[in-house]
Amino acid sequence: MSASGCPERWLRVTANGLYCEPGDFFVDPRWPVDRAVITHGHGDHARAGHRHVLATPGTTAIMRHRHPGDPTSYQPLPYGEALTLCGVEVKLAPAGHILGSAQVVIEYQGQRVVVSGDYKRRADPTCPPFEPQQCDVFVTEATFGLPVFRHPPDGDEIDKLLHSLTLFPERAHLVGVYALGKCQRVIALLRRQGYEAPLLMHGALFGLCGVYQAQGIPLGALQPMRDLPKSELAGKIVLAPPGAQNEAWARRLPDPRTARASGWMRIRQRAKASGIELPLVISDHADWDELIATIAEVKPGELWVTHGAEEALLHQARRMGLKARALSLVGYEDED
Ligand SMILES: [Zn+2]
Repeated sequence: MSASGCPERWLRVTANGLYCEPGDFFVDPRWPVDRAVITHGHGDHARAGHRHVLATPGTTAIMRHRHPGDPTSYQPLPYGEALTLCGVEVKLAPAGHILGSAQVVIEYQGQRVVVSGDYKRRADPTCPPFEPQQCDVFVTEATFGLPVFRHPPDGDEIDKLLHSLTLFPERAHLVGVYALGKCQRVIALLRRQGYEAPLLMHGALFGLCGVYQAQGIPLGALQPMRDLPKSELAGKIVLAPPGAQNEAWARRLPDPRTARASGWMRIRQRAKASGIELPLVISDHADWDELIATIAEVKPGELWVTHGAEEALLHQARRMGLKARALSLVGYEDED
C-alpha cells in the first residue's frame, strides 16, 4: 500500500468526528460543518446546522422533519449510487438500523473504507437489510460489543407482549419505545404477528411515524391515546417515549403494565431500576454474534471501532488476524 493510499492519512479522527481530508467532508459530525455525510437520522449522528448534507432520501426526510427551518441544503443519494467529491468516491449502502440508515463507502486512491454507522443484521420490516461491503478498513460501532449481549428473536419478544395482553385483559400495556426507529419497528413487528387493532400512542410519536408512512412503510391504524376515555383503555397497547412513561398523562391508564423495547433490557437490573415489568429485548444494534459474523464476512484488513464496549471486540478481531484500533469517538450515545 502506498503512503498516500494509507486510509488513516486521508480519513482522520478529529474532535468533530471522522474527517475525509481530500473530499473535505465529515461523517456524522457533532458540530456544524460545511459538508457532512450522515449515516442515519438519530440525534447523535444527524445534528442540525450543517451547510450541505449528503444522506439517503430516508435520512434527509427524517432530518427535514426534525430540523424544520434549518437552512441546510440536502442532497439525497439513493443506496448504491456513487458520487465523486474532489476525487473521493462516496456511496451509501443499507445498514439495516432504521429507515434510511446507511454505511458510507469511501474510496480513494485504490483504498476503500466503510463507515457502518449504527447497524444490525436481523430482518426489520421498516428498512432494507445490511449489505456487507468488501473493504480495506471497516469502521464499526460496538454498542453491544460484549459476549453477554445475544439478542433473542424479535418475534419471541413481541409474542411475550401479545401473551401478556391475554393474561391481563383488564390492564393497559404501556410500551416504551424511542420515537425514531424503535417505535416504527415495534409497530411493524406487531402487524407481522397479526395484531391489527389500532395502536394508541403518545402525541410525541406521530410525527416520525408520518415520515415513515410517507416513505412507503405501512404501520396500520394509529390513534392518539387522549381520544379514548379511560374505560376503553383496558387491554390496549399504548406506545410512548421512555421518558414519558412515568409522567402524569400515563395515570389515565388503567393499572398499566409497563414494558420497554430495548437491547438494554437484556440486563435485568436495568429493567428493574426503570420500573419495567415486561422487558422486551428488541435492539436496533448488532449483538455480539452479529458483530463477529459481520467482521468475518466483510473480511477487512483493518477494523476501527468508533464507540461502545470496544475492548472485547478489539481482542476478538486481533484473534481473527485483523489489525484493530479504537477510535474512541465522543458524542455518540448508546441509546437503543
Ligand atoms: Zn442510531
